[in-house]
Amino acid sequence: MIICPNCGSHIADSSVNCPVCGAPTVQNPYGNPYAQNPYGSPYPQQPPVPAVTSPLGWFGWMMLCSFLPIIGAIIMLSSTEDQSAKNFAKCWIVLQIIGMVLGVLLAMLMIAGLGTVWLRY
Ligand SMILES: [Zn+2]
Repeated sequence: MIICPNCGSHIADSSVNCPVCGAPTVQNPYGNPYAQNPYGSPYPQQPPVPAVTSPLGWFGWMMLCSFLPIIGAIIMLSSTEDQSAKNFAKCWIVLQIIGMVLGVLLAMLMIAGLGTVWLRY
């Protein structure tokens, strides 16, 4: 018999969870150490190490984004772990799309304008 760390009930040794309160028993460290453990987590969560892009890496991304508009930024977004680089790639994609839309609109306006000029003569 073991004693439930949460409510103090006596539980069979084979039990994974307390039948009274449902808390995981201490004998099962691989079950779920984060759920209802009154002693706190035995495995302190390590803060993730932030990935940082080097200046040379940034230069590479700039070149890729310049030569392959949108596609380069998508490659950058999917392959980098650096959050700031990801944000840059997203921003770049949005800017490229806005630029393309504006370019198409401008071209349409020019064609429309030329059309009216030609119709006049
Ligand atoms: Zn219990």
